[in-house]
Amino acid sequence: MHNIDALKELLNEPKEVMITTHHKPDADALGSSLGLAGYLKKKGHRVTVITPSDYPDFLNWMQGNDDVLVYSAKNDALVRRIIKEAQVIFCLDFNNLSRINEMGGYIREAEGTKVLVDHHLQPENFADLDYANTNAAATAEIVYDLIKAMGDADLIDTGIGEALYAGIMTDTGSFRHPSTSQNVHLIIADLLKIGVKTSDVHRLIYDSSSELRLRFLGYALKDKLVVLREYNTAYIAITAEELKAYDSKTGDTEGLVNYALSIEGIVFAALIIDRSQAVKMSFRSVGDFSANEFARDHFNGGGHKNAAGGMSMDTLDATVAKFESLLPLYKEQLQQATVR
Ligand code: 5GP
Ligand code: MN
Repeated sequence: MHNIDALKELLNEPKEVMITTHHKPDADALGSSLGLAGYLKKKGHRVTVITPSDYPDFLNWMQGNDDVLVYSAKNDALVRRIIKEAQVIFCLDFNNLSRINEMGGYIREAEGTKVLVDHHLQPENFADLDYANTNAAATAEIVYDLIKAMGDADLIDTGIGEALYAGIMTDTGSFRHPSTSQNVHLIIADLLKIGVKTSDVHRLIYDSSSELRLRFLGYALKDKLVVLREYNTAYIAITAEELKAYDSKTGDTEGLVNYALSIEGIVFAALIIDRSQAVKMSFRSVGDFSANEFARDHFNGGGHKNAAGGMSMDTLDATVAKFESLLPLYKEQLQQATVR
């Protein structure tokens, strides 16, 4: 781990620490944050985890979850004060301050030392200390490596381990994406050694759907899936009314885009959802086709090469029309992006 001495020095006495992560945190965002928080608390720091928005219920079992402060207009003054008074500000699993909404401006102004721990492409340069690694499978992997490089692997208990496991498990797609390195498997072996119940974490995250969520999945796959063979592309577009009809909660649409990508021969998939304030998009690809570039060039987004997100202020219909109209520009790439 490069430049670990700077972090050692920064944390060599108890500090006021705040940790934040991206809008609508997923398991890696929250797991890396709570894993790091658990470790820093054991080192004697005062730690507050603040998320810029709510997150799915299937993440609420993690150690430290009950102390998470979820930003809202109502606690704006409190959040501002915590950010202003923090001596150290950890930014986890995002690399652009626009990804944390109102909090982005507060952190930009803050005087505390900003530490970036992330694995996304195209970072904005706002941190004082940078532990970004775009080759890492998950931010939770980097957090694990940082704790180890600090010489504190023995402080990782099952609570911290479960949170980090959740991040690594989900961001590797349960150890199936090409990012699943030797290092990932070695970390998991370490976590098993200390007693992390990996199958419990899997169940808590993947097998805790409401009945309606499952019926929504059935509906989306049966009635909403569009397959464009000419472009090896499939997408699902969901209206605000459909979300309402199925009482869709935060996180209920997570994973849906992967079904579109699981069709034989499909190399590019999108999930396009009318979230009322904006249309939110999720992109997934396999092989050489860059979902990141597509999101960045056309939908004000970004992420990883094969998993990215973006948004649009157009209507749902106009966004879908724009998405479809872009595909011919990529026809050759999409046809050549073969899956072995
Ligand atoms: P998801 O489709 O699961 O929301 O996100 C896929 C990946 O892209 C995640 O790593 C996520 O952090 C990133 N991502 C999602 N939405 C955005 C966005 O609007 N902008 C950027 N830069 N990254 C995003
Ligand atoms: Mn991540």
